[in-house]
This record gives sequence, structure tokens and C-alpha cells, in this order.
Amino acid sequence: MLQIKHIRKQYITGNLVQQALDGGSLNFRENEFVSILGPSGSGKTTLLNIIGGLDRYDDGDLIINGISTKKYKDRDWDSYRNHTIGFVFQSYNLIPHQSVLANVELALTISGISKAERRERAKKALEEVGLGDQIHKKPNQMSGGQMQRVAIARALVNNPKVLLADEPTGALDTETSVQVMELLKEVAKDRLVIMVTHNPELAEEYATRIVRLRDGKITDDSNPYLVEEASEETLRHENMGKSSMSYLTALSLSFNNLKTKKARTLLTAFAGSIGIIGIALILSLSNGVNNYITDIQKSTMTSYPITIEAQALDFSSIIEISPGHAEEMDIEHEKDAVYMNSMDLELASTVTTSLTQNNLTEFKKYLDDEDSEIHEYVGDNGILYTYDTKFGVYTTDPEGEFVNTDGSTLQEAKQSAASSMISGIGSSMGGNGDGSAMSSMVSRASDNFEELLPDSDGTGVSNAIKDNYELLYGEWPVAYDEVVLVLNKNNEIAATTIYELGILPSSEYKELMEQLEDGEKLETQLQQWSYEDICDKQFYLIPACDMYVENENGTFDCIADDEEALGERFEDAVKLKVTGVIRPDEDLENLFINAPFGYTRELTDYLIQYTEESAVVKAQEENADINVVNGMSFEPKDDAAKISDVKIYLSGLGVSDKAKLCKEMLVASAAAGSGSGTDAAMMANMGSMGETELAAMMDQ
Ligand code: ADP
Ligand code: MG
Repeated sequence: MLQIKHIRKQYITGNLVQQALDGGSLNFRENEFVSILGPSGSGKTTLLNIIGGLDRYDDGDLIINGISTKKYKDRDWDSYRNHTIGFVFQSYNLIPHQSVLANVELALTISGISKAERRERAKKALEEVGLGDQIHKKPNQMSGGQMQRVAIARALVNNPKVLLADEPTGALDTETSVQVMELLKEVAKDRLVIMVTHNPELAEEYATRIVRLRDGKITDDSNPYLVEEASEETLRHENMGKSSMSYLTALSLSFNNLKTKKARTLLTAFAGSIGIIGIALILSLSNGVNNYITDIQKSTMTSYPITIEAQALDFSSIIEISPGHAEEMDIEHEKDAVYMNSMDLELASTVTTSLTQNNLTEFKKYLDDEDSEIHEYVGDNGILYTYDTKFGVYTTDPEGEFVNTDGSTLQEAKQSAASSMISGIGSSMGGNGDGSAMSSMVSRASDNFEELLPDSDGTGVSNAIKDNYELLYGEWPVAYDEVVLVLNKNNEIAATTIYELGILPSSEYKELMEQLEDGEKLETQLQQWSYEDICDKQFYLIPACDMYVENENGTFDCIADDEEALGERFEDAVKLKVTGVIRPDEDLENLFINAPFGYTRELTDYLIQYTEESAVVKAQEENADINVVNGMSFEPKDDAAKISDVKIYLSGLGVSDKAKLCKEMLVASAAAGSGSGTDAAMMANMGSMGETELAAMMDQ
């Protein structure tokens, strides 16, 4: 049972205060047909939206099955909306290029119901509204009355206890209106229907109860329902289940046989679309629920960044090929021979053809153009450009040992513990095997350090972050050398990260890995640190350009793997100060800081400036044809020059470097699949080979 008690809602726009609802109370029966009448602006829509959980009341209470909603969390509202309420609006809000069946089914896809059941229930709902024979039509092939019936079927398919309808006949002629009203009357036989209308005749004829509103006040109720407070049952809140997105998982599986690169783009597109689906679904439900949309958009926007990639995927085509629809592609045939089912190819083709290329250059021009229509919506702080800045951050653990916070120190521990060549190969592939020293050696550092969205003026920390994260201790970072520690909602940091950041000794991690290796059960204990202690920890940032030191040949040696040389640089390093500790708000759905440390735009700017002035960059700029790290030309004029370059390069390598290179070449060729049997055999042998042998092999 639903009750509203002294419900109040104000809208404040500028200096204007609109009292949309002014303290009225109503109790609704489990099953009746209530019509809400009143002049335009009297608060009907507001009332309906509050009852449906689309909008929040300022004061008073909405009581659902005897339970106050004052303490409702976003999750509870979501569950209530998804399971208890169905909505119908004047403008139908159907997705135009989807079949009627797909439109109805879509309402079920987010509730994690199996494909067969979804299809079954959607068909049944459409039959109930008298459209059982039209399920494959598109909305634009239907009349207004039929579209509204589709919308009603969509609202009913979840079998909600309450159906809310906001002027459902507002766009229909009298005759069709009557059909829709008949349908709603039928629906109201076993559930509560609350309908807003400004057609008193229809209300009188069909509704079992008429409530009149004027200026936000209830002026009349033809059939009030009095509930004795004492007799109120304390009912459980039903269906507090979590909506699941299982079909996305199912869908992603069916892409497995697509080319990897495309599949990857697809999955990224998917991850990115979930927020967008949220908006699309809501928009498709109603365009009259501005506040709710703003809320959703706000929480979606905070899942920054919205990634716009060179390739994009038309999401609606994915819905078309969702497993339920795939069946439609079945071609009818006899079962008397062997037939080809080309669904897999069609799926692949739908996906490929819905991938489009974005013209990012034009898009950026559009974004930057002061006169483009998007400018009005983007505002001053809507578009920010960031650099994927790379750097190394080092520290010492409680035992005074050198730690690289990118986790490589721990990986060494893992390796030596495992003493297995194979894991060595794995890490050399992931970490250093891509040949571009600059990016590879520092690439993981950014996993533990992430740039925070700056404020609209490009400095400090954006209000979007401050609104969604609570500052538990200290201050927000401001300067380039200030960082903030980001905990999870439960004030925690993952154990591995704790070791990566040198908060606990690497040697201990090594022991743990050994225990794991031996199949022992790990004993973990609850450990805690005070905010003060954790903020006292010193981190040393060494810009990527400082990892290159000029040698006597005039080229630059990379010291990234040389702990000692790095350790000596601690003096000149940027000493990062941990200025504060933050935690995401409990209701935040999309975390938008995914690293334990956040740094400011100031650090990025500082590093860009610093790098520009560094010796290695200057040397490279002066000598554009020669790679100053290895002395070879970037574009040798022919193969002979290439060969001679390589010979010079190899002759300059030490045994360890040669061994490493040899290993990487074997791994790369095996991975590329060119894998002649010999390579594979050599791989297998590598475990027993020492550096000298590998280096000799390289020489050969
Ligand atoms: P009805 O549906 O009866 O026409 P509404 O509930 O839409 O009335 O609106 C009630 C009052 O609240 C109106 O004065 C309207 O201008 C105001 N109002 C409704 N929504 C908003 C909003 N999002 N922002 C500001 N004022 C609003
Ligand atoms: Mg209205």
C-alpha cells in the first residue's frame, strides 16, 4: 500500500519559488483506479513523479508498504522503480527503430531475466493489450492509440503493483482515448492505477476515485481511504533484488570469434555505454522528469571520462542482435536435411557494420567552436584535455629497501620466489617487451597515480570530485607536488597495493608469494594505519626524461632498471606530499578515481615543462634523424644501413642486455605465431639456459 503524508515539494528557479506540492496527504488502496484532476501547473506531474520515485520530496513522507522512504538510498529507489512501478506517459516514448516486441522486451533486459522468459512475457503483455498480432511492427507503423497500448504493455511487463500514467490520452482523439481508458480500467482490476488527466469526463466515467489538485493542494477526494495508524501492518519491502545486466555478459561472449581488435573496441564501447544506456532508458521512459534525468546525468557524468574513440559502435544495433532477437533471424525451413545456420555471420556483420569511424579532428573543431550549438550545453568546464603523462614513483619500505611503486619490485620478488623462467617471460612481455623503452618502463606507474579532474579554470580539483568524495583527513591537493590518497568505500586499500606502495616491506610480500607457491594457506590479519602515519610516507617522483643519462658516446643510457642510480636521484626527485585522504560517497556508483593516489593538473603541467627543458629531449630535438638513446637512425635509407646500425647497436650491449633481447625475440616470434618448431623448442629450453648462453645465442 502507498501513502503520502504531508508531502511538500518546491522548485526554485532563480528568485522564483514554486510550491509545486503543498503538504497534502493521500492513502491509496492496493487496487483501485485513481484519477488526478487539476488545471495545468497544479502539481499533478510532480505528485506522480514523487509517487513513482522519479523525483524526491522535500518534506513529508512517502510510505511504501508501511515503511517510510525517508532513509531510502539510491539503490532502494532504483529497486522500487524497477519492480513496483510501471510508467506510462503522454508521448509514449517508444524507441522508433525497434520492433514493438523489442520495445517491450527492453524493459525486461535490465532486470536480468532469461531470454526465453523475456520473450514470453513481452508477448503475453502485448497480447493483453490486444496487440498480439502486431509484435513485429515498428512504432511508426502504428496509430497513436496502438503506440500508447505498447507503452502500457511495456509498463506492465515487469508486473508492477502500481501503474502510473501521466495524461496517457493527452495526444489521442476521443475514440482512441476510450480504448486506452478501457484498457487501464481492466489493468486496475488487480493493481493500483493512478492516472493524471485533465479530461474530467473520462475520469468520471472510468476512475473509481477522483482526486482534485489546485496550486499544489488536494482540494477534493471522491473516495478517501482512511487508514488507522495503529492498524498499519509492517509489511516487508518486496523485490529488493538487484537488477543485473547478465545479457551484456552473454552478448560479449558471442563476440569471441570476432577479430580481437574489433572485439576490444566493442567491449570498451560496451563499458562506456552502460552509463549511456541508463540515460537512453530513462529518456525513453519520460521526458517530463527533468530532475530525475539531471540526477542520472550527474551520476553518469561523474563516471568521467566519457571516452570518444576513433571507432564507435551504434548501441541500438546491439540490442537488435541481443540473444532474444537473434532468434528472429532464423529462417524457417523443413527439418529434413542438413541446413546452414548463418546467424553467426549475420551477428558478425551487424556488429561490423555498426562500427563507425569518428572524425576526431572535425569533432574537436566542433567542440572548440564558440558558435556550435554544443557550446551552450558544455559550459565552461565541460571539455578538458589531458595528457597521458608517464613518470616513475619510488619509495623505500619500512626495512629501508628501494621500492618502485609500479609493482615491478614485487614482481621481482615473485619471480625469484617462483624461480620460473616462464613467469619471467610473462613479465618481460608485459613490462619491457614492447621495445619502446620510454613508455614501457614507466607505463605502470600511472596505475597507482592518476590525474584528478581539475576545476573549470584548469587548476586544483574539480567540484565533481569534491561533491562525490569525502575528505577524511588533511587537505585537497593544490600544488604540483601534492597528492591525495583514495580509499574505497570501506576505508580500505588492496593488500597488493599496500606492498606496491612500500607501506609494508617487499620481503614480506616475497614470503607470502613463497607460501602461495608452496600451496600454503595465507594467514592474513587485519592491519590498520592512522591517517597521519600514512600521509607521512615519502614518495619520490622521477620524471621519465631524468631516466636518461648522457654517456661518453654522446648517446643516452637508460637508468630505469638501475636501483642504485635511481636511488641517487632521490635528492633531485619531486618529493610528493600526501596532503589528505579521501573516500567515495556511499551512493557513488561510478568511481572516477581508480588509483590509490590522485595528483593535480599542476603536476602534469610541471612535467611537460620540465621534460621540454631536459637534456635528452633537447638532444633529440637537435638531432631529429638519430635516436639519441641507441645512436641508430630512425629511418635507415636501405637494408644495408639498417643492418649496419643493428650490428653497432648489438656490439654495444652487455651480456645481460643481449640475453634479455634474445629472450624477447624468441617470445615475440612465438607469440606472433610465426613460431617455427625451433623457436618453440628453444623457448622450452630457455629455462635451463643462463645469461651467457642466451647472449651467445644472440651473437650467433
Ligand atoms: P501539472 O502536471 O499539474 O501541470 P507540474 O507538477 O508539472 O504541474 O508543476 C507544478 C508546478 O511546479 C508548476 O508551477 C511548474 O511550473 C513547477 N515545476 C514543475 N517542474 C519544475 C521544474 N523542474 N523546475 C521548476 N519548476 C517546476
Ligand atoms: Mg503535468
